[in-house]
Amino acid sequence: MVARAARATDLADLDGAVSNCFACPRLVAWREEVARTKRAAFRDQEYWGRPVPGFGAPDARIGILGLAPAAHGGNRTGRIFTGDRSGDVLFAALHRAGLANQPTSVAADDGLALRDTRIFAAVRCAPPDNKPTPVERDTCAPWLHREVALIRPTLRVVVALGAFAWAAWWPVLRDVYGTRPPTPRPAFGHGAHWSGMSAPDLLGCYHVSQQNTFTGRLTPGMLDDVFARAKQLAGVD
Ligand code: SF4
Repeated sequence: MVARAARATDLADLDGAVSNCFACPRLVAWREEVARTKRAAFRDQEYWGRPVPGFGAPDARIGILGLAPAAHGGNRTGRIFTGDRSGDVLFAALHRAGLANQPTSVAADDGLALRDTRIFAAVRCAPPDNKPTPVERDTCAPWLHREVALIRPTLRVVVALGAFAWAAWWPVLRDVYGTRPPTPRPAFGHGAHWSGMSAPDLLGCYHVSQQNTFTGRLTPGMLDDVFARAKQLAGVD
């Protein structure tokens, strides 16, 4: 799997290869079970039930790093943050920021396009309770690392959605940029900023999960501030 990720020559190749990954037995079983049993509201739909590739511009200056696909969102539609409440909040914010051509993301063929931005997850398969194990995180890392390597020429800023994504970024520095992660690791927080020198800057943002958006811990205004900062750091108008 590591070798297959490293061999991917472009994003299309990588997307095709990751979609056929079966490296994590627990996650393969879960993604397929969810796709089989379905949520009642989607019982007429065919679930994707596979790993979910990254999505967005191949020349992205801004990367958005999430945790993992949602069981009935990305795992259903085949596109990251698509078809769930988290995606509703995220894409509305990206649209306000001028980084998405529409404020909604409901299906893989809905016409959504991103400008200067690519979204990817640290773990590419939906995990039970949204909690991948450390072994699953490490097993999936080569897909993330290769994706970052492929967009490295333009990538300037990464927005980490939540502490899991923030922690998943540090190994990228070593594997993709050949540079040592800082010690101690900077703490995650909403608005936290680590300046990368030879690597992209890293911005922390609370995850767009319902626990955060329904409770007001993460508001639209807070998201707007993060994406304004990301655009400024990335040199995006
Ligand atoms: S989580 Fe990643 S490594 Fe594990 S099966 Fe899915 S795509 Fe493969």
